[in-house]
Amino acid sequence: MSKTILVTGGAGFIGSNFIPYFMNKYPNYQIVNMDSLTYAADLENIKEVNVLDNYVLEQGDITNIDLVQTIFKKYKITDVIHFAAESHVDNSIKNPTAFAQTNIMGTLNLLDTARNYWMESPFKYKNEFKGSRFHHVSTDEVYGSLGETGYFTEESKYEPNSPYSASKASSDLLVRSYYHTYGMNVVTTNCSNNYGPKQHDEKLIPTLIRKAIQGEYLPIYGNGMNIRDWLFVLDHCKAVDLVFHQGEKSEVYLVGGKNEKTNIQIADLICDLLDKELPKEQSYRKQIKYVQDRPGHDYRYAIDASKLESRLGWIAEETFESGIIKTVEWYIKKYIGKESSNES
Ligand code: NAD
Repeated sequence: MSKTILVTGGAGFIGSNFIPYFMNKYPNYQIVNMDSLTYAADLENIKEVNVLDNYVLEQGDITNIDLVQTIFKKYKITDVIHFAAESHVDNSIKNPTAFAQTNIMGTLNLLDTARNYWMESPFKYKNEFKGSRFHHVSTDEVYGSLGETGYFTEESKYEPNSPYSASKASSDLLVRSYYHTYGMNVVTTNCSNNYGPKQHDEKLIPTLIRKAIQGEYLPIYGNGMNIRDWLFVLDHCKAVDLVFHQGEKSEVYLVGGKNEKTNIQIADLICDLLDKELPKEQSYRKQIKYVQDRPGHDYRYAIDASKLESRLGWIAEETFESGIIKTVEWYIKKYIGKESSNES
């Protein structure tokens, strides 16, 4: 069935991995990418779909409700897959307001526009929008921090600790409320840390690779023992695809890679890969430097994705060991233009 899907934030890290994957798989869908092109966007990362007739970029801000309404009417939007967000925890500590505006108000604008455009009244969809769905893309950070053991599940309590996670938690609750109050067809995915090609330079893995290559020190917060559950970005894209098409209305699905690593393990692994790819006199590990911890730094995130696995058959296809090699190779090419010796 043909759909006209509003994908928000499609020029960011995950969106720009998602759109090419999704358009290749569903060539009959129309994709409208609404992105305000903040510093986090990179049109270079999405240029492969620019040439397609069924793709259009609408540069615009989701906090502008008039514009959101105009786009819904102009393209007769049937579905929404909502990635757009302010996403960097460190920035949220410096400027929480921007996070509240985009992540909370922007999400509310999209929800409310979709409701008015698709529905006649609460629990009653207009005939032409009976199959319409709103997919909200969120994070495991809404659940706060874990100790040494245990996993986040869909039943975990919301305990966001940073302005970023608090704003995402608020947006999740708005999405939930649109199901309970208006009967809107919503689904939410809460995913662990993604890594892979096209991520912004400011994030941990690109920062480590770039600084290592440039001969700078590699900053590691605190004692480097904070743990994240890393998922290759394409596995996240596949989960979004699956939940968007087959997820149960109103349900939440956690997405995670069973790849728990401390920050120092990540840094060591990247250094070891660079030692092989771009050897220098001394190991890149010598450039690692511990720096003052991020305030309120969550200790550990880890996901139990068994609901998504057992109900929808999702599995993380990429292991961390294979995904990090692809990732390091991609950034070497980006930063110094060098093809990896492993590429044909
Ligand atoms: P990103 O920061 O790389 O990209 C965000 C995109 O949204 C950018 O292209 C930016 O220009 C756009 N944007 C920001 N504010 C906007 C606004 N007001 N109007 C329109 N567009 C706007 O983020 P990402 O890492 O690709 O994350 C995408 C989504 O996935 C976010 O909702 C994030 O919370 C969620 N998520 C990310 C991760 C991760 O590890 N990166 C993990 C789980 C969930």
